[in-house]
Amino acid sequence: MSDLSTHLARLEGHLARFRDKGILNLIGGIDAAGSGGTFQTRSPVDESLIAEVALGTAADVDRAAKAAKAAFPAWAALSGEKRKAILHRIADLIEARAEEIALCECWDTGQAWRFMSKAALRGAENFRYFADLAPGARDGKSLPTQTHLNVTSRHPIGPVGVITPWNTPFMLSTWKIAPALAAGCTVVHKPAEFSPLTARLLAEICHEAGLPAGVLNLVNGMGEGAGKALTEHPDIKAIAFVGESRTGSMIMKQGADTLKRVHFELGGKNPVMVFEDADMERALDAAIFMIYSLNGERCTSSSRLLVQESIAEAFEARLAERAERICVGHPLDPATEVGPLIHKTHFDKVMGYVGIGKTDGATLAAGGERVGSDGWFVRPTLFTKANAGMRIAQEEVFGPFLTSIRFKDEDEALRIANDVAYGLTGYVWTNDLARALRVSERLEAGMIWVNSENVRHLPTPFGGVKASGIGRDGSDWSFEFYMETKNTAFALGSHKIQRLGA
Ligand code: NAD
Repeated sequence: MSDLSTHLARLEGHLARFRDKGILNLIGGIDAAGSGGTFQTRSPVDESLIAEVALGTAADVDRAAKAAKAAFPAWAALSGEKRKAILHRIADLIEARAEEIALCECWDTGQAWRFMSKAALRGAENFRYFADLAPGARDGKSLPTQTHLNVTSRHPIGPVGVITPWNTPFMLSTWKIAPALAAGCTVVHKPAEFSPLTARLLAEICHEAGLPAGVLNLVNGMGEGAGKALTEHPDIKAIAFVGESRTGSMIMKQGADTLKRVHFELGGKNPVMVFEDADMERALDAAIFMIYSLNGERCTSSSRLLVQESIAEAFEARLAERAERICVGHPLDPATEVGPLIHKTHFDKVMGYVGIGKTDGATLAAGGERVGSDGWFVRPTLFTKANAGMRIAQEEVFGPFLTSIRFKDEDEALRIANDVAYGLTGYVWTNDLARALRVSERLEAGMIWVNSENVRHLPTPFGGVKASGIGRDGSDWSFEFYMETKNTAFALGSHKIQRLGA
């Protein structure tokens, strides 16, 4: 049976050890306190203390980077088949502990159980997917000429830093760490300070599965402390970062002195464009799902609805009605569709945008208010009659907050869609094939779905353009980041060599 009280009882069992011992770092395979003391992680449901967390500093990052450097040669030299076997064992253990991971994730982040139970399993899928690619990660090309045989091969870049955000932290951590390990890199992971719980579970699982000590190191801490130190460390060759665009820009500056390679998955202000010829029922379901699921705290959320004038009135009215009916509640209640926002600071930011939307003259058509007085619950919010220049149409709110803008025709729709700093995803709803082709061609985004919500297929490239990111994840795109390509030219012995001074 799975209901709120059973979930709470089971969660209690999982949290007890963290209450006693806190959430420790894991460096070189050994549990370690933070040299900065501790900080607290609290549940967004009721602000109750979950655990004291090791506060990592530059000194801890240095020890972790050295451990990752020491473990690198042996891990890189291990055969792809052996790495594959370990990564599959990690996936097995994630599946075995999926309920524990999901319960902890819901409690730490406020995400609803109905989505998190799947996100834990998706973490296992990420490991399996990259496990199977590990044996071929080094493969290259043969590029012969008349005189030389050129052969390329790939080599893991070295120890890398992975810095993750607080939204769906477990799934996102696996998405970055699994390809790094499959490529033969060693890792120092700095998870978000708002949601450290499941990163600790992941590190434990990896070691239990037989990952050698030092291959994955966990350092908790603040962005400006442990995070910054990681991006500046000379032994760390690359930084895979998921988070805000502003932070990405800081990381690029911090990593400049050590010439860090960076991979950035950043913010979004993604349009869902609904044309008058679209299948209205499906478009409505998808638009609602893509902004209100995961509390709207997802980089790929469709936070701007661009709707054609001829259908706007009816579409927005139905949207408002559905938004009002969304079940806001305890994240561990299986009936809940939207849980509390991660933290008071984020709650204040989202509520701040409600004020901004009103002041700027948009119409509040649903939500816009706090639910209850404990925890950071916000009613799903819809602003209509916004124009493209308003802040609620330009800036990432990252909550259950949708801004609807009307357009006359395709050209105007595209102008509005592209008139933002971001370019992560776009969703196009039309039954006119030629229009779908034209619009997807001109839309400035790294990922576009036509007549669909975000449905991920792991081999496809994931990433954004403009302020939404640098680089792509998935399949070989991930290996391109975590590996160096080397070309070796073998002369066939017949070409003419210029003879200077002969
Ligand atoms: P954030 O940028 O505030 O923090 C992300 C991580 O960076 C945290 O671990 C934080 O401690 C660390 N950090 C902060 N300052 C740092 C610094 N100076 N040096 C090194 N590390 C530092 O982001 P957030 O609020 O945790 O996450 C939400 C953001 O993440 C949103 O903008 C969202 O769109 C984005 N996101 C993007 C994707 C994607 O795939 N494009 C996926 C998920 C989330």
